[in-house]
Amino acid sequence: MSGVVRIAGQGLAGTLLARALERAGREFEVYDPGHEASASRVGAGLVSPVTGERWTLAPGWAERAAAAKAFYREIETAWDVALVTELRVRRVWRNEAEAGLVHAKVGRGELAPWVTPSGLEADAAWIEGAWRVDLPALIMAGRARWREQGRLHEAALHPEKVQVGNGPGWGPVIWCTGAAETRVPALRAVGGETLELAVGGAAGDWPEGVVRHDGVWVLPVGGGRAWAGASFIREEGERLTRREALRASVRRQLADCKWRELAVLAGRRMTAADRVPVSGWLAGHEGREGVLNGLGSKGALSGPGLAEGWSKLLHPR
Ligand SMILES: Cc1cc2nc3c(=O)[nH]c(=O)nc-3n(C[C@H](O)[C@H](O)[C@H](O)COP(=O)(O)OP(=O)(O)OC[C@H]3O[C@@H](n4cnc5c(N)ncnc54)[C@H](O)[C@@H]3O)c2cc1C
Repeated sequence: MSGVVRIAGQGLAGTLLARALERAGREFEVYDPGHEASASRVGAGLVSPVTGERWTLAPGWAERAAAAKAFYREIETAWDVALVTELRVRRVWRNEAEAGLVHAKVGRGELAPWVTPSGLEADAAWIEGAWRVDLPALIMAGRARWREQGRLHEAALHPEKVQVGNGPGWGPVIWCTGAAETRVPALRAVGGETLELAVGGAAGDWPEGVVRHDGVWVLPVGGGRAWAGASFIREEGERLTRREALRASVRRQLADCKWRELAVLAGRRMTAADRVPVSGWLAGHEGREGVLNGLGSKGALSGPGLAEGWSKLLHPR
């Protein structure tokens, strides 16, 4: 597969793919008009070994987490940008039933080594081994780098402009266009919101590196700021909009801190019905046009391995 690979979209998916190709010495160019519509601009990049309402091990954690983190760490060194923060998550249970569930799982060793008996408190459990990738920092660093190298087109690429097989020098096009993708029926867009908060001051002694979580996570992102978002929301007995429920949880969890809301950051991420990312050739365009999309709510974990897979496939023989 020769010719210059064109990557349409430079959110998380496009950035990881471009970096994998760059490392492999493959020629590529990137197209993206800007990140106004990018989920990666507002995605929290939180990666935790224990997730979901039922405190389960994150799917693919054992196979992917270490390699994914190493992928980001390599970029940190190569580009001189800080991306990864190691985190501990203090997750509060909401009722006796949930407390019982966690105690039972911990008792059976199901969540070890991430949640262990020594991490149990009266109303919460500590989840060890989580981390965060600073997605906005990653995509902005990639953008600056590829602009400087003359590989970035600050414009959209449209399917009708694609000349794979016709235009000289055109290798395959890989569509990493997030919510703009319309040719993959399995994908649907899910809206999400992150609250940006200013946290701290005399009343708020909140150690960096600790996430508060009760279904809504509150994540310190440095510089006296935190982001809050929902893995799932339960406001028992109340009928609140999602944003109101998010705010109610933040008020509860930050009752011991000084904080104020700075902004609501909204984005749309793509997800497939089976929650498995879509990574492969477009039907009818095999060898010419591919897709990397549907990274879903765990894009930071699944993205690096998928980008590596594409990079191997695209390597000229
Ligand atoms: C509120 C929220 C919270 C989240 N929290 C987490 C989290 O904690 N952990 C986690 O792992 N994931 C999280 N996610 C998910 C994660 O952000 C996404 O999986 C990931 O950002 C998706 O990246 P992407 O590159 O597929 O899409 P995007 O980031 O949306 O990128 C698509 C890019 O394509 C560009 N584009 C579109 N059309 C064209 C075209 N024709 N030509 C060129 N470029 C084009 C757009 O400008 C955009 O920059 C969250 C998402 C949201 C919305």
